[in-house]
Amino acid sequence: MADKARIVVVGGGVAGIEVATGLGRDGRADVVLADRSLSHVWKPMLHTFAAGTARPDRQKVDYFAQAKRNDFRFQPGTLVSVDRGAKRIALVVEEAEDHPPADLAYDLLILAIGSRANDFGTPGVAEHCLTIDDLTEAEGFHASLRRHLLRALRDRDGLSVAIVGGGATGVELAAEVKHAIDITARYGSPDLPARLRLTLIESGPRLLPAFPEKVSAAAARTLAGLGVEVRVGATVSAADEAGFALKDGGRIDATLRVWAAGVKAPDVLGAIEGLERSRTGGLVVGPDLRTTRDPAILALGDCASLTDPRSGRSVPATAQAAHQEAQHLVGALRGALAKGGVQSALPPFHYKERGAIVSLADFNGWGTLGRYTFGGGKLNGLSARLMHDMLYRQHQFGLFGPGLALATWLADELDRVVSPPVRLD
Ligand SMILES: Cc1cc2nc3c(=O)[nH]c(=O)nc-3n(C[C@H](O)[C@H](O)[C@H](O)COP(=O)(O)OP(=O)(O)OC[C@H]3O[C@@H](n4cnc5c(N)ncnc54)[C@H](O)[C@@H]3O)c2cc1C
Repeated sequence: MADKARIVVVGGGVAGIEVATGLGRDGRADVVLADRSLSHVWKPMLHTFAAGTARPDRQKVDYFAQAKRNDFRFQPGTLVSVDRGAKRIALVVEEAEDHPPADLAYDLLILAIGSRANDFGTPGVAEHCLTIDDLTEAEGFHASLRRHLLRALRDRDGLSVAIVGGGATGVELAAEVKHAIDITARYGSPDLPARLRLTLIESGPRLLPAFPEKVSAAAARTLAGLGVEVRVGATVSAADEAGFALKDGGRIDATLRVWAAGVKAPDVLGAIEGLERSRTGGLVVGPDLRTTRDPAILALGDCASLTDPRSGRSVPATAQAAHQEAQHLVGALRGALAKGGVQSALPPFHYKERGAIVSLADFNGWGTLGRYTFGGGKLNGLSARLMHDMLYRQHQFGLFGPGLALATWLADELDRVVSPPVRLD
């Protein structure tokens, strides 16, 4: 019997873990998943881990266990180079830095390494701002927030947080931080919210530019009602240890500074010679998700740049798009493996716009579904929040199967009842 095709998936986030799981179960290829971390978390939850209103331990998926259950192999390591000629990749294993990099050969390489916030080279941001692009960073933010909160409780002094970026990440983080402070205030410090200065800074004319204007306006009203200072049309020109300098000459001072604006692909993609890259550094792929200059390398999720040929629009960098691409690719590659092999033609991917949801902690939420916008008001806010959760549950359903996914959901609901609503430990 011919040797199985070697498929290496790098990045076990929203897209990559779904692809490795789907192809591992198929059994027709030798599948390896590589990730720099040892466990997967659903990135759209990072702001809740950062604020301490959700616990990451319960939401982690252990890559080794997932690999064992679904017949693929897991290789820990950070991708550092791709040798396209030899079809090999090198991974640095953080726990063994003195060891030579792990080296993997592939017939098909699938890159799904996500994206990061983009500071556009703004001076001082790298040194003086936190980001929440992965679990380590979200936990770092939480540790700082907790330290400042405990100090504010002890010394009865103020606490100031400024978040740059009025997209969904910044808006949701602002609401979640406010929610965490409100809960903490119930522990014997009712004046704590009055001592919090929370500022959301957006350079564009409105919050949530990807949403209809009335959602932007309603989100700004809700945040203002919660006491968040919303500064639209404010461009940050530099960051320092005390806050932000603005282009118009103003300043916003803050003890905790977070950069949650812009999107760019990981730098390592620039080190792969000869591939076409977009303005934000993503790998340009065709509708079959193969990179335009190397059919043995595919990319999907945030690190890919794809224009949907049907709509002529760019596929957005969202979990929804990453999930749809992953599901499509699993079906397409299973078909290819059954017919001729991984180099066979793959059917085109078409993005289905299923709308966007933004959830402001327990305060409110809005969603757009195709032509419709819903949300606003407590009840509808709850339905938008449930819709927000649905994409995550769908992802878990695909990873675990119906029984385990339902048990996990139930365990999460029980945990919500038995655990404190905010993490201060
Ligand atoms: C706070 C926050 C809230 C969000 N909310 C929403 C939302 O409500 N709805 C929505 O649709 N989208 C949301 N997003 C965007 C969404 O999370 C991303 O679009 C989605 O996660 C992209 O999936 P991906 O598989 O491309 O990458 P990711 O899920 O980011 O996964 C990338 C994986 O690659 C690994 N990796 C990275 N670099 C390397 C390397 N060099 N070597 C090895 N492994 C590597 C990482 O460890 C990670 O496991 C949010 C994002 C953030 C930060």
